[in-house]
Amino acid sequence: MQTHILGFPRIGKNRELKKALELYWKKEITLQNLQQTGSELRKQHWKIQKDSGLSYVTTGDFSFYDHVLDVSMMIGAVPERFKISAGESDLDVYFKMARGDAFSQVSAMEMTKWFDTNYHYIVPELSDSTVLKFSGRDIIDQTCEAVDAGYDAKPVLLGPVTYLSLSKSVDGFDKWLLADKLGDIYVQVIAELSSMCRWVQVDEPILCADMELEAAEAFKKIYKKLNSSPDSGSILLTTYFDNLDDNADLALNSGCTGLHIDLIRGGGAAEHIVNNLPDFMTLSVGVVDGRNIWTTDLVKARKQLENIKEKVPHERLMIGSSCSLLHSPVDITSEAGIDSELKTWMSFAVQKCRETALLGAVMSGGEYSREIEHNQEIIRSRNESSKVHSAKVKELTECIDSSMLKRKSPYSKRKKEQGWLNLPLFPTTTIGSFPQTDEIRNQRRKFRNGEVFIEDYDFFIRNEIKKIIRKQEELNLDVLVHGEPERNDMVEYFGQKMHGFCFTQNGWVQSYGSRCVKPPVIYGDVFRRGDMTVDWITYAQSLTGKPVKGMLTGPVTILCWSFVRDDIEKAEVCRQIALAVREEVMSLEKAGINIIQIDEAAFSEGMPVKHKDRNGYFRWATDAFRLASSGVQDKTQIHTHMCYSEFNEIIEAIADMDADVISIESSRSGMVLLDAFNDFEYPRDIGPGVYDIHSPRVPSVEEIKGLISSALEKIPAERLWINPDCGLKTREWREVMESLHNMVQAVKEIRRQY
Ligand code: GLN
Ligand code: ZN
Repeated sequence: MQTHILGFPRIGKNRELKKALELYWKKEITLQNLQQTGSELRKQHWKIQKDSGLSYVTTGDFSFYDHVLDVSMMIGAVPERFKISAGESDLDVYFKMARGDAFSQVSAMEMTKWFDTNYHYIVPELSDSTVLKFSGRDIIDQTCEAVDAGYDAKPVLLGPVTYLSLSKSVDGFDKWLLADKLGDIYVQVIAELSSMCRWVQVDEPILCADMELEAAEAFKKIYKKLNSSPDSGSILLTTYFDNLDDNADLALNSGCTGLHIDLIRGGGAAEHIVNNLPDFMTLSVGVVDGRNIWTTDLVKARKQLENIKEKVPHERLMIGSSCSLLHSPVDITSEAGIDSELKTWMSFAVQKCRETALLGAVMSGGEYSREIEHNQEIIRSRNESSKVHSAKVKELTECIDSSMLKRKSPYSKRKKEQGWLNLPLFPTTTIGSFPQTDEIRNQRRKFRNGEVFIEDYDFFIRNEIKKIIRKQEELNLDVLVHGEPERNDMVEYFGQKMHGFCFTQNGWVQSYGSRCVKPPVIYGDVFRRGDMTVDWITYAQSLTGKPVKGMLTGPVTILCWSFVRDDIEKAEVCRQIALAVREEVMSLEKAGINIIQIDEAAFSEGMPVKHKDRNGYFRWATDAFRLASSGVQDKTQIHTHMCYSEFNEIIEAIADMDADVISIESSRSGMVLLDAFNDFEYPRDIGPGVYDIHSPRVPSVEEIKGLISSALEKIPAERLWINPDCGLKTREWREVMESLHNMVQAVKEIRRQY
């Protein structure tokens, strides 16, 4: 039985690609050096796939930045402002598109989330000046490379309909007008690839999302063209991240000779597909989870495959990963620090290749009882482990009742009760973190490595907190923060203080370009081991007469930025985290902290791909926030913070969270993002960010006053807070002091008008 994965992570076992890219951007290595790294990584990845026993190695999955941007290059969709100047290579233009260019002041193309993953792609810009032309041959060259090296290559191309769906139309242009021409280019590319390969994988995940009408029309036309061309070969149409649902028939009638479905996330529609599969179509079934890190239950997967095999003959079945392994770390064997039992429960990209191949061998009648037995021991040990299951947590979550999801009184009453905080009109505050200097990072590292005693580390952090409090007093801010100097990361810090989490040393996953994240792993029931933040916050409060805001990360954000166990519902894991955060909130309140912020930076990232599934998510996600935040007295003020989001989508959920104050990122939108709140008649306090913390530029008093005035057109004065867009940890102290000084000055001047 044929086996394959939909793509291998490109970043490298030790983030070789990241390192090479960053050196190249700093001009410390040559273009040739960079190309060399790329070529070595591709070779390593093909070898891993081949050695695992997979039938094909995937080509075209490598990228120097992003696979959507790669298609833009392939089809010549380069916006005017990136015109090549003398001496510039294609790759330099490519990087300019991704990152902008400070020297010539061209701005980068927009970046956004790839479906519901934490991967970000570069949004294609299509306008009436876009002239599509087959321009980039990387995928063909790389496939040749693999074929020449003796591999059975299966190239992967992002599909034309997904590409167009994810593009943005500039200046009212109708991007769908390009469908025809785009189809022609794909005909050409696929013809060249087909001459070398058995399959060409064409990814159309958009089929599993809400598809525009034009997209469905374009799909029919383009695929008719692709499949009727004499050199079209065999297209494996790949879909993933959800069910095909309404688009199942589009896929089944596409004329492609192969179809891939994701059985991990899209199991629901499998029966319809299997029953209606045309007899010339091969079905590739994704049973190895590309987006999580757990060892596959091979017996369960085998059963799923056997069920399908009753309807689809052996020679027309293929086994695959559910989606590309881009979303998985590279190799679990390089983890030295994880408990050895936990380690057996996990499978990263390298292990997933082997699991997929093994399933193929088993389904082909091979005798692998030893491997299967070993696998089942692992699955059993995870299912039954006391590391995973805690009777205490079960008991606690069973006791949650609806009264725990509600504040004692409605907002109007709370607002009055909170009057005792004596805050001025337009209270000024910050989002939590202050600059993380090299000194802070060094101390944390030394502490982690056991080079610094806990007492000394404690003393150091307290001293930092003291400095941060003094600076805020100097600035005359109204609500202070302790500055988060003890936190390396807003999720990892809390994960380390709760049961049920573990951390990898090298489990990096690409987020965008050279940027990677290392999500914690939630493997078991979550509970708080003890106070997590109380000492730092109460120390900060002891230094000042102004209120200090306690700073916590919310349950949804902790969940969204972790790899989550798959043996219970996500909503249940979220509830467990929420209970732990709730206990911390209560501890803070008891210790005399009267303002508590629970960050939900990732709230909109957890939204399911399809609109119809979103309400279910909003229900449990807002419940988790309410569970975390509602235990306090009316006079305690609960804040939340969200980074940039499409607030229109989530405004109802935000209102449902019932926080007394929300701060949001909005300065770059010129306060346009506040429209969502205004239109909804959002009833509570809002702090729209009045300066962009992503840039080192110091905003002037006038500029900030301008933004405050725009905000006042949308939000009543008595409900407006003034703060930066987000935390300040990536900035320099000088910028921060000047910017906050101007912010406070702007507020002072505006207050005079009231
Ligand atoms: N409190 C966090 C900080 O200031 C919030 C960061 C975020 O929203 N991403 O750093
Ligand atoms: Zn933020």
